[in-house]
Amino acid sequence: MAEKQSEENVKIHVSHLSKSFGKLEVLKDISVDVHEGEVVVVIGPSGSGKSTFLRCLNRLETATGGEITVDGKNILDRRTDINHVRQNIGMVFQHFNLFPHMDVLKNLMMAPLELKKGDKVRMEQTAMQMLKKVGMDEKAHAYPDQLSGGQQQRVAIARALCMHPDIMLFDEPTSALDPEMVGEVLEVMKELASEGMTMVVVTHEMGFAREVGDRLLFMDGGYIVEQGDPREVLSNPLERRTKDFLSKVL
Ligand code: ADP
Ligand code: MG
Repeated sequence: MAEKQSEENVKIHVSHLSKSFGKLEVLKDISVDVHEGEVVVVIGPSGSGKSTFLRCLNRLETATGGEITVDGKNILDRRTDINHVRQNIGMVFQHFNLFPHMDVLKNLMMAPLELKKGDKVRMEQTAMQMLKKVGMDEKAHAYPDQLSGGQQQRVAIARALCMHPDIMLFDEPTSALDPEMVGEVLEVMKELASEGMTMVVVTHEMGFAREVGDRLLFMDGGYIVEQGDPREVLSNPLERRTKDFLSKVL
């Protein structure tokens, strides 16, 4: 924890970030650093800006103000090659967004093939290796609709890993799953965390936050209202809004 938070190993630096959609101010003065290997969990009520925050980090949404640097590169600068930055940032959504007309292996190979990341044989090896990692190698030739939600989400994680990202963003990856499938996805994420992946995870899974998170951010109304060690924030929230929220979800 202490070593993860030194000044030198800042992976994502967010400073006074704001984001509006027209007149609606969704993010207001967000400042936070994510360090290499750190797992930052983001919680907060619906509409508080969690997804928008995550999407600003790889410029799926363009910030209205402030600064975001990833590995020291200012991603809001027009001259920054955003595609290059994005290749190092994997993202996993609530809905798995697999291509229904492609089998699992083709789903994994599509982006690397398009970006011509080495030869096809190597790509296939990488894809199989990532499927194995998430326990889905036996389903390489299945189609998405033949898989359970949990299996599809594990494939979506493997697909992101094929690009060899060093940051992974997760937006409520288990929210669309039946309860019995939540564990298998969290398990894969936990393993990634233990391997040192830098992760920002929006989730309602407080057990995961407590067990795997290095830091917890509580967002409300476009602000980071409170942050700290997940165990401390969850058991002893300092802000009234955090208390209110936790009393509803815990
Ligand atoms: P959360 O993920 O915490 O539920 P979001 O970041 O999705 O919150 O949304 C925050 C606010 O921004 C909500 O009021 C939502 O309606 C609004 N919002 C999100 N995306 C857009 C958009 N593309 N256009 C207009 N408003 C949006
Ligand atoms: Mg959201």
